[in-house]
Amino acid sequence: MTFRAAKLQKKLHMCKKKCNFAVMKKDAYSRFARIGGLIAIIILLVILLRTCHGCQPEVTPVEQDEQMPVQLQEQPQPDAKLVSYPGRSIKYAEKFRDLNAQHLEAAHAIGLSHCPANREEAIKMRKELVEIKSNANYIVEDLTHSIPYLVPTAARRLDAIGEEFADILRRNDLPHYRFHVSSILRSQDDIKRLQRSGNVNSTQQSAHVYGTTFDIAYWRYDKVSNTTDYMTQDNLKLVMAQVLLNQQRAGHIYVKYEAKQCCFHITVRD
Ligand SMILES: [Zn+2]
Repeated sequence: MTFRAAKLQKKLHMCKKKCNFAVMKKDAYSRFARIGGLIAIIILLVILLRTCHGCQPEVTPVEQDEQMPVQLQEQPQPDAKLVSYPGRSIKYAEKFRDLNAQHLEAAHAIGLSHCPANREEAIKMRKELVEIKSNANYIVEDLTHSIPYLVPTAARRLDAIGEEFADILRRNDLPHYRFHVSSILRSQDDIKRLQRSGNVNSTQQSAHVYGTTFDIAYWRYDKVSNTTDYMTQDNLKLVMAQVLLNQQRAGHIYVKYEAKQCCFHITVRD
C-alpha cells in the first residue's frame, strides 16, 4: 500500500467514525425529543384534567329562604294522622288590607297619648298598660324590637282572639295549637334602635307605639295536645284567618297582611 492509499484509508476511517457519531447523536436527539414530547403530552393531560375538574359546578346546599314559611312541626310519626280544618281558602292579601291610616286613627282614639321610653317606664304605667304573657292559647316570643305591653282593651282583644282560635280547633276535633305573638308595643328606645338601623318609615308612622297593635306570626304554631294527629302550618294559618275575619267583620280590629314579616298586623278598635 502506497502512502497515498494509506492516507485515503485513514480519511475514510475517520469519516466513518464521524458518520457513526452523527447517527448516534441523531438517535439521542430523537429519543430525547420523543421523551420530551411524551412528558409534554402528560403535562397537557394533567392540566386538561384539572381544568375540567374545575369546570364542574360545585354542589352547594340549597339555602332556606328566610321569607319562606318553615315547617316547624316534628316529622310525623308512622301512625300520625294529618287532620285539617275544612274552611275555604282565603286570599289573605285581599281580605286583610286595612290601610295604615285606619290603624293610626284607631290607635289615636283608644291608645296611649305618651309612648313609654322603655320597659322600665312601661312597668310603672300600671293603669294604662297590661303586661302580655304567654298563656294556654298563645306564645309571646322573645321580642327584640318591642316590649310586651298593651292597653287593657287591646290585651282583652288578644285574649279573645286566642279563645276563638282554640274554640275553632276544639269544635272541629282538631289538636290544640298555640300561635305566636311576634311584636307588640314599641318603646321610644325601640324606635331609636330601629331608626339607627335605617328603618325610619316603619317607626314614625306605626300604630305599634300606641299600645293598641300587635303582630301574630302566621306560620309558627306549637302543638299542645298529646296526640299523633297533626295539622299543616298552612291549615292553621287558615284557622287564624277565619278568627281575624270574624273579628274584623264585627268591627273589633283592623288587619293588614304583612307578607314580608310573615304576620298579621292587628290594631284593636274598641
Ligand atoms: Zn305590626
